[in-house]
Amino acid sequence: MGAKLEKMSNTQFNQNSADLVLKNGKLLTMDAARPRAEALATREDKIVALGSAAEIEPFISSRTRVIDLEGQLACPGIIEGHGHYMSMGESLMGLDLRPTRNWKEVVDLVAGVVPAVEPGAWIVGRGWHQAKWDDRPSPNIEGLPLHHKLSEISPNNPVILIHASGHAVFVNVLALKASGIYADTPNPAGGEIVRDSQGTPTGMLRETAQDAAREALAVNLSKRPADVIDSERRRQVKLAADEAIANGITSFHDMGETFQTIDLYRNLADEGNLPLRLYVCVQEPSEVMQGKLADYRMVGYGTNFLTVRAIGEKVLDGALGVHGGWLLEPYADLPECSGFNVVPLADIRRSAELAIQNGYQMAIQGIGDRAARELLDIYEKNFRLNPSREDPRWRIEHCQVIHPDDLVRFAKLNVIASIRGVFATSDGPWVVKRLGEKRARQRGYLYRTLVESGITVINGTDPPVEGISPVENFYRSVTRQMENGELFFPGQRLTRQQALETYTVNNAYAAFEENIKGTLTPGKLADITVFSRDIMTIPAEDILNTKIAYTIIGGNVKYPES
Ligand SMILES: [Zn+2]
Repeated sequence: MGAKLEKMSNTQFNQNSADLVLKNGKLLTMDAARPRAEALATREDKIVALGSAAEIEPFISSRTRVIDLEGQLACPGIIEGHGHYMSMGESLMGLDLRPTRNWKEVVDLVAGVVPAVEPGAWIVGRGWHQAKWDDRPSPNIEGLPLHHKLSEISPNNPVILIHASGHAVFVNVLALKASGIYADTPNPAGGEIVRDSQGTPTGMLRETAQDAAREALAVNLSKRPADVIDSERRRQVKLAADEAIANGITSFHDMGETFQTIDLYRNLADEGNLPLRLYVCVQEPSEVMQGKLADYRMVGYGTNFLTVRAIGEKVLDGALGVHGGWLLEPYADLPECSGFNVVPLADIRRSAELAIQNGYQMAIQGIGDRAARELLDIYEKNFRLNPSREDPRWRIEHCQVIHPDDLVRFAKLNVIASIRGVFATSDGPWVVKRLGEKRARQRGYLYRTLVESGITVINGTDPPVEGISPVENFYRSVTRQMENGELFFPGQRLTRQQALETYTVNNAYAAFEENIKGTLTPGKLADITVFSRDIMTIPAEDILNTKIAYTIIGGNVKYPES
């Protein structure tokens, strides 16, 4: 009988041999039951076994793809915890102006595409930055060009060139006209139409002054035939996926999309064409969400490629850099200002009620300490009134300034703190100016304190606001080293273990997906990221030289493409 059993199990092994085996690696599972392994086997879209080389050997048959990791580090698939998926795709379309070194190069790039564009269609470019220029344009206003050359080379096409910061655009004269901007147009509140000495617009539109041009562009784009729009949106999905997957991302928390975009995602999921797993937040006004949320709630749709069960990212307050983050006390460098509330609290309250009714998570942006407190108040009230809604796991996005009194409330309410490690170091150079040293130290970017307060901390880079690289974000999270080499309140550094948790187990938990993602465990999805170097042990300065060796989603090697 023993022999018979053995024979049967051998046959079973053959029948159930692995589709993919990773061997000779450093597998960091993030699973306490088995923290380390050398090899792993997958079948269909799941992990079936982990262990030593000898333990995994029996899973290899002639049909198994075997990858020798050559000692590289494999960990659970990296989950981007907060991004804007379609915007990211959009940011990868159009002319890439990031490499341009002066205004002439910008104009030449635009001139190069003009002949191929239908008259009347807009030309869109992105990523220029005058600080990178080796030459001042002549003539110039405040170091910025005037529109004339751009208008000359593109007489039939409006041109809009989006600044690398996203806070301004530069346009030609046709785009100015299409936007209804003339010499007598007043500056809108919170924006500036830059003008020459005669008062004529130069083409530079700062902050809210760019809205008119962006709207004119949007109107123009929306008039195209439906099939053209559909294929462009599919291209956006593909471009965003290529960029994410090349950076080791296997799942993506998409913080705010319309129902229309979710329809597209659902179609793509039905076709098996969603390239990576999306956890999608609905971003619509409350009156639009009402009555639709129940129909759109999807969990693990399309073999776990699409989940819709959150409301986000309504912005409660503005950005800290422009004194918009809503603070409990005024800005140190602008004493009459405490920031502002963007989406009215009444709308957030209504969304929270809808979330409770429909079993959705709230994932709302709160940058300043006042914003975080208002959100905690709203969340707490809803939890209290609806005690039957267990485990809602509501989130506050960004959490850049938090009053110490509120830390205990996060923990008590099990509210998730969704941080951007890289914001601490991008914002670092001006944070002390905005908040003053004491407040910056006690309340600013308290990433380590959040973790040590027993709060679930999740991470991501907010692409396309920042690049999606988890390697860079990991590095910034564990070093707090700014571009200028200085450290930004290094006491708030995360340990490497904590930083990797924010990107794996914690991001999985924040999407209610800890049973299928976040650790390398038999039975979970075979989503795996392999780094070229051991980011857990190499000297910190070497982390940024780490490459993505493999991105594996559902047992399929998605990067590099074979
Ligand atoms: Zn965001």
